Amino acid sequence: MISNIIDSRVIARMRTMIDGAKNIAVTCHLSPDGDAIGSSLALAHMLQRLGKEVQVVTPDMVPRSLSFVPGVRTVVVFTKTELRARYVLEHADLIFCLDFNRLHRVDKVGEVIGQSSARRVLIDHHLSPEEGVFDLMVSEPDASSTCELVFRVFMQMGLLSLLDRFAAQCLYTGMMTDTGNFTYGNDSAEVYEIVASLMRRHPDRNRLYKLAMNTFSADSVRLQGYALSQKMELYPDMGVALIVLTRDELTRYNYRRGDTEGLVNKPLSIPEVNWVVYFREECDYVKVSCRSEGDFAVNTICEKYFNGGGHLNAAGGEFYGTMDEAVKTFHSILEEMKENKSTENKNETDIER
Ligand code: 5GP
Ligand code: MN
Repeated sequence: MISNIIDSRVIARMRTMIDGAKNIAVTCHLSPDGDAIGSSLALAHMLQRLGKEVQVVTPDMVPRSLSFVPGVRTVVVFTKTELRARYVLEHADLIFCLDFNRLHRVDKVGEVIGQSSARRVLIDHHLSPEEGVFDLMVSEPDASSTCELVFRVFMQMGLLSLLDRFAAQCLYTGMMTDTGNFTYGNDSAEVYEIVASLMRRHPDRNRLYKLAMNTFSADSVRLQGYALSQKMELYPDMGVALIVLTRDELTRYNYRRGDTEGLVNKPLSIPEVNWVVYFREECDYVKVSCRSEGDFAVNTICEKYFNGGGHLNAAGGEFYGTMDEAVKTFHSILEEMKENKSTENKNETDIER
């Protein structure tokens, strides 16, 4: 049994908002991942099947690695066709915000949404959504993915008949990618019950896995090999691994966005490592990606030091400075942790005395 975890009053209000809307825009976070784009395209598709005019707007380009997701060619990309994207957002009477919790996570799209008179509905699984921005919120940090929540919304509305193979492929993609092919963040039986329901729509799971999670260019495989063999530094006493890739190194391997997808997870297979930091040098900042296992929180680290956030075990941010400064910050985090540890130990021995 899949339970109704979303408040039924929220579901009823959402249904009323959808029924009352003519033009609906659906948007998701910057650098859309499988969950962001999968949930947006599935939601848009099902709303279209309800007879609504719906357009997906992304703040920037969907990576080429996700070009197999059904409907991806219909997306309006703000950084590519800004006038069209503004037109869609400004003429929408309802805007769905998927897989992000704060308007600044969608860059300029956030500014347009902030000024818009449309109703705003959030469907997301990140912690602590921004207050006072959304008219209605489905915020469930325990959910595996936003795709899971889109499924639940339609299930609770009694509209699963709208969920066809197209939507099932989109939702499966997001659930699979946000859980590392169902290896983390999905400890509930209900996730598999939802997957079972998607499987009845024949999404072709093996093909989606191959395309979403196991297709890399030769350059990208070589770059990841180089990063792991030459650039992974281990700090076993702190349980952490650091990977740094500079612009020069990325250029050497003809880096394209998405080429190091999944790299940050690899050091977690080492038993001594329970958190990982990956710095990738962009033109004017350093992109930060962190992963962890168990109750070690990387989102708080990204919030505190890297202008970012995310989930307990998967978070990211941006460091505005040079790579050397980013690495220095990493070392200062380790120092701070060591100091905190020794104070804790001292306090413990004081108590024992
Ligand atoms: P990734 O490491 O795959 O880029 O991101 C993992 C997760 O970290 C994302 O799902 C998102 O929740 C969060 N995240 C990544 N980059 C940022 C960022 O720049 N700002 C914030 N607030 N969260 C981020
Ligand atoms: Mn997500």
